[in-house]
Amino acid sequence: MSNALRPRIGVNKDTQFFWDGLKQGKLLIQHCQACDQLQHPPGPCCKHCQSFELDAIESTGRGTIHSFVRMHHPVVPPFESGHPIVLVELEEGTRLIADFINSTPDQVFIGAAVKVAITECDDEVTLALFEPASA
Ligand code: ZN
Repeated sequence: MSNALRPRIGVNKDTQFFWDGLKQGKLLIQHCQACDQLQHPPGPCCKHCQSFELDAIESTGRGTIHSFVRMHHPVVPPFESGHPIVLVELEEGTRLIADFINSTPDQVFIGAAVKVAITECDDEVTLALFEPASA
């Protein structure tokens, strides 16, 4: 296992609430008050109707794997060769990309039930990783 730090997160005025939520143990998803749609990653306006009337909902963190890849090459510490990266479809109906942890290769497949594992990686970085729902 490498001692390398994870890449730093990109925080701006549009994404601050998301990162603050993770520090509080909450997975927050941006919600449009005008058209009631969700979007991730967060942006300055609604990608569906361009409204600026945005707030956030707290996700249950449950969902399914919509798609995935395994990163083999190049090896970039702290990531190990072959680690799975999943596109999760949250049960609220929006998707996000995350590392998939605490899993065996047979648990990584399209349609697999997953749950969020909010993980404090170091003093600066808390991430929404995902793991098998049964973990
Ligand atoms: Zn909207």
